[in-house]
Amino acid sequence: MTLEQHWLTQARRVPSPNANARPAGEVSAVVVHGISLPPGEFGGPAIEQLFTNTLPPTAHPYFATIAALRVSAHLLIRRDGELVQFVPFDARAWHAGRSRWRDDSGRLREGLNDFAIGIELEGTDERPYRAAQYHALVAVLATLMQHYPAITPTRLVGHAHIAPLRKSDPGPAFDWAYLRRCLGRATA
Ligand SMILES: [Zn+2]
Repeated sequence: MTLEQHWLTQARRVPSPNANARPAGEVSAVVVHGISLPPGEFGGPAIEQLFTNTLPPTAHPYFATIAALRVSAHLLIRRDGELVQFVPFDARAWHAGRSRWRDDSGRLREGLNDFAIGIELEGTDERPYRAAQYHALVAVLATLMQHYPAITPTRLVGHAHIAPLRKSDPGPAFDWAYLRRCLGRATA
């Protein structure tokens, strides 16, 4: 997998306006998320619409509650492993919200959007993520760790880890041990 100006060449590009500069230019962590829109339904355009401020609020009762949000992630990995990139990795995407994390050096960090890459997996907290998604995620992470050396395996976190009272994704369905095994093999 290759990068060109902080975009994955293998990803379909859907640029999001919900992004701005990273205050310190730091890219040193990855936050893994889970998302499905409407909740529990896969496929369809709603995630891409949400991240580009084009979600039709009347198309589903749930959409009315989120259509005004201004959010994004760098990357979405769909159920079949397709990659969709919304924000270049050197820019700040708006995925973590209020967040705090004691990092691998023991330093307490807040506002992880400033320095993290946000990767959304299409899914729910309870339904197993698919093999194609783990394989795509591992390939992406290996590439990111090569290009942004501050990202290491101990600097991968879930949204639930950094906003525990507010967020539960990617949920118990996400197999961190499996991810770490695959990643260890891919980067050995
Ligand atoms: Zn999330």
